[in-house]
Order: sequence, then C-alpha cells, then structure tokens
Amino acid sequence: MALIAGPCSVESEEQVIAIAKEVKAAGANMLRGGAFKPRTSPYAFQGLGSTGLDYLVAAKKETGLPIVSELMSADDIDEFNEKVDLVQIGARNMQNFTLLKEVGARVKKPILLKRGLSATYQEWIMSAEYIMASGNENVILCERGVRTFETYTRNTLDLQAIPVLRKMTHLPVIIDPSHAGGKWWLVEPMAKASVAAGCDGLLIEVHNDPEHALCDGAQSLKP
Ligand code: PEP
Ligand code: MN
Repeated sequence: MALIAGPCSVESEEQVIAIAKEVKAAGANMLRGGAFKPRTSPYAFQGLGSTGLDYLVAAKKETGLPIVSELMSADDIDEFNEKVDLVQIGARNMQNFTLLKEVGARVKKPILLKRGLSATYQEWIMSAEYIMASGNENVILCERGVRTFETYTRNTLDLQAIPVLRKMTHLPVIIDPSHAGGKWWLVEPMAKASVAAGCDGLLIEVHNDPEHALCDGAQSLKP
C-alpha cells in the first residue's frame, strides 16, 4: 500500500523536513510536496519552484522517503528526472496532450496521473494512454474527486472509480481524499472507505500548522 503524505506546498526547508519525519513515523512511505503549484488565482502563492524541489531532496536525505511532486511544464523534465521519484501530473493538466507526450517520452520515473476536474473514466484512461504510447508505461491513476452540483464539499469523491478502473485497466489506483472533500475531517472516513474498496494507495495532505498553510490548509491533517 502506497501511503503518500506531505504538505500541499513546500514552504520552507524546516517545514518540509519536520513534516517528513512526522509522516514517516506515522507510517507514510513516500513524501509529497508541491514546488510548482497550479493555483486558480495568479495572485495566490505559486510555490517555491526549483528551490522547493531542493528542500524535498533534503527531506529525502534526512528520512529516506522517496519524493513525489507535481510537474507543470516540460521545461522542468530534466530537473524532475534528477530530483523526484514519482512525477505527479495534476488534474488541470490531465488533457494537456503536448505535456503528456513529452512526459511519456522523457520522464524516467513513474507518473501519477490525476483525474481531471470533470473527466470521464474513458478520457482519463486515454490520457494515461498518451503517456504510455509515448514510451513510459509506469502510470498510476489518482482519483481526487470530481466536480458535481454540490458546493458544501470541494469535490465529490468517486469511490466507484476503484472497481470500474479495475475492470477497464491494469493500472494501479490511488485515492486522494484531501482534494476530494476539501475538509480535514472527511479525510479519515474516506481514506478508510477507499481502502475497503480496494485502492492501491492514498495521497494525503499533512501540514504542521494548517491554519497558516499557504495552500489547502482546510483539508490538511496535522501529523
Ligand atoms: C495537489 O495535489 O496539490 C493538486 C493541486 O491537486 P489537483 O491537481 O488534484 O487539484
Ligand atoms: Mn493541495
């Protein structure tokens, strides 16, 4: 079972190292932190970029946890190949076909492909197919909630994705209950439900001081 945990955004070296140690002690086997952030508003914190990746590498040195981070531009592929162990493609880039082709051809690590905000299973699988047909078959699918009419929760977690994808593909399926619900107290019950439904792993946002997080504090668990 992959247990991927860490802050939405890398904010400082001290922050990410402290969280890495705590999530490792709590049973996580991979550390995740965003360095390049796809924010809805251009005025919101955009991430520390390259420096953020360096802080993740420092946290990996301290804890031995492999690191996961989101790639937004093909310009950064060489750097991700060097520094990151699992490359995330975010929901907003699921149908950035130019990026998917570059990733398939040039990324040497496994790829975590998030489901688009309102993507069907077929569209999502076709996006995985773009990566695989371009040369990298190590694709992991990540359900992170879909847009529905409901506004109380950030998105609606589609647990049916697990058995449906089992039928449609051989690819591993990871559930991200943090971005699905958008509220920290929904994470535990939805994580348990995901395990019961047979997921291969979980991606959970964890922050040492969620009230002051630069991104996604409301959905972050404390260590
Ligand atoms: C994230 O993982 O922090 C993120 C931006 O997620 P998504 O692409 O699922 O919105
Ligand atoms: Mn986030």
